[in-house]
Amino acid sequence: MVAAHEARLHVATSVDDAVAVLTEAGGDAVPMAGATWLMRAELRDEPIRPLYVALGRIEALKGVEIAADAVSIGACVTHAELAGGLAGLPEMRGLAQAAGHAATPAVRAVATVGGNLAASGFAAADLAPALLAADAEVEVAGSNGTERLPLAGYLATRDQAAAGSLIVRVIVPRGDCVSAHTRLPLRVAGDYPVAIVSMNVAVSPDGTIADLRIGVGSVEPVAARWTALEEALASQPLDPEAAATAAREHAGVFAPRDGVEASGAYRVRVLPALVRRAIEALAASR
Ligand SMILES: Cc1cc2nc3c(=O)[nH]c(=O)nc-3n(C[C@H](O)[C@H](O)[C@H](O)COP(=O)(O)OP(=O)(O)OC[C@H]3O[C@@H](n4cnc5c(N)ncnc54)[C@H](O)[C@@H]3O)c2cc1C
Repeated sequence: MVAAHEARLHVATSVDDAVAVLTEAGGDAVPMAGATWLMRAELRDEPIRPLYVALGRIEALKGVEIAADAVSIGACVTHAELAGGLAGLPEMRGLAQAAGHAATPAVRAVATVGGNLAASGFAAADLAPALLAADAEVEVAGSNGTERLPLAGYLATRDQAAAGSLIVRVIVPRGDCVSAHTRLPLRVAGDYPVAIVSMNVAVSPDGTIADLRIGVGSVEPVAARWTALEEALASQPLDPEAAATAAREHAGVFAPRDGVEASGAYRVRVLPALVRRAIEALAASR
């Protein structure tokens, strides 16, 4: 057992340096980005680690780069930087809303994309459903090199990742689509969202849905796509009421989590309203 004042800090200078130090320390070290999640470890009854590897000085983890076909987001980009960096890209509006409305201004100024996605046990992450809806991939560095995997695959395996595994960047494809992010924050939940619905849609010339991805966060322990609803709404017009009805019919697919702030049943019950709001926003932004 390590007391907080006994923990050591290594300020990494490069991705290779961070991976090497984390790998050598095994389970005794973890990456540290904005530390907004890590600093509350004791409140969650999680142990203080002997060593923290600070990522904030690594240039390769910074910056939002916008190319014609994709946006590359460094793991240490903060929520505030992400919201600002995506302003003016209509297809990224949902992701920009997720980054710009999560938490508080003070937290958004330091909390990073990598930390939001890597914080296992954190079900209410706003960026996870928004990036699932955006079909994002994650580049992960480790002692065996770098690999790129779909975000869903990363979220499913992050708990078993080898020591030294580090998110380097998130890659979001661009396209002729629009996106929206809706959430229900609750005061009793410390303003964390009790349910989140993110959508990304490509619309046919006749106004019907050509391609739809829906990410749902905070309902189950890990954010996931709502494929049953995606299939139900395929080729349909962007009709908020019809979408909310379909959401009610397909809400049984979730295995929702109970929490002190909201029951699992409540999280599922609010989903149709969030779906309605998301479809309204998508229809308005075309
Ligand atoms: C008051 C408050 C309100 C909040 N409200 C919201 C909200 O409404 N919506 C929301 O989404 N979030 C909310 N959060 C949570 C916040 O978004 C997360 O704490 C934050 O995103 C974590 O990022 P970080 O950079 O601070 O990560 P850290 O605390 O530094 O790290 C978090 C975890 O990720 C790991 N990690 C960090 N970077 C990497 C990397 N590059 N590769 C691999 N592992 C890494 C760390 O080892 C640790 O396990 C809130 C937090 C606070 C304190």
